[in-house]
Amino acid sequence: MDIFFLITFFIFGTIIGSFLNVVINRFNTGRSINGRSFCPNCAQKIKWYDLVPIFSWLILKGKCRHCHSKISPQYPIVELATAILFSLLYYQFSFLFFTAPLFFYIFYFWIALIFMVLLVIFVYDLKHKIIPDMLSYTFAIMALVQTLILLPLSNFGSLNFYLDLFAGLIFFIPFFLLWYISEGRWIGLGDGKLVLGIGWFLGFTYGLNAIILAFWFGAIFSVVILLIDKLKNGGKHITMKSEIPFGPFLILATILEFFTRIDFMGIGFFLN
Ligand SMILES: [Zn+2]
Repeated sequence: MDIFFLITFFIFGTIIGSFLNVVINRFNTGRSINGRSFCPNCAQKIKWYDLVPIFSWLILKGKCRHCHSKISPQYPIVELATAILFSLLYYQFSFLFFTAPLFFYIFYFWIALIFMVLLVIFVYDLKHKIIPDMLSYTFAIMALVQTLILLPLSNFGSLNFYLDLFAGLIFFIPFFLLWYISEGRWIGLGDGKLVLGIGWFLGFTYGLNAIILAFWFGAIFSVVILLIDKLKNGGKHITMKSEIPFGPFLILATILEFFTRIDFMGIGFFLN
């Protein structure tokens, strides 16, 4: 691993992150992603030196230079998250960075694009409690393309081969049934559309691990939130009906599984 390249990928990640912030904020608003950034409170155009990823927000202490209204911490968080993901991708790829065939560069470029879509979905779902179809289908199609190109290279015709080939659809079915039976009360169909992509992005074994992990994350998070609310407010503010979006947990688990490939469910063991 070369520290120079690591830093380069990190900085490049912060720049892509600030682009993703623009995409997140302007998605479905009819505003183009080309226009100049301005403060949503005082409409003052933001100068270039106040648009430096992460640093500008820190130097301005999260406030607009002109009207001092709060600037969302979403900006530095997304920039930092993108930078960390790009650095991790480089780290994973670094051992063959100079020697890899062209194919690997294209593969990692494709993965970086998929990560960008996942980050947009993560924040969008957190903010609006909905995943736009266009984003989940983009993720699903990109992941399917990756599977269709890579999968024939591995054990063609085996059980694993078919499970990976149909992983997206296999995961979609139970989500669809939960949504259909509960008439959308237990789970939104948006999460079902998201697992289409997760299945094809990670394959059957790691995809299933990611989904189970996401349920655990969601459960632990809900219990912690309920406990904090109970201690602070006597449990008045949050009820079981308070909606916590599930998409971010799915994406967090997917990214963790992508980098770690831990089969804690032992699914691979049963399949072989
Ligand atoms: Zn302002």
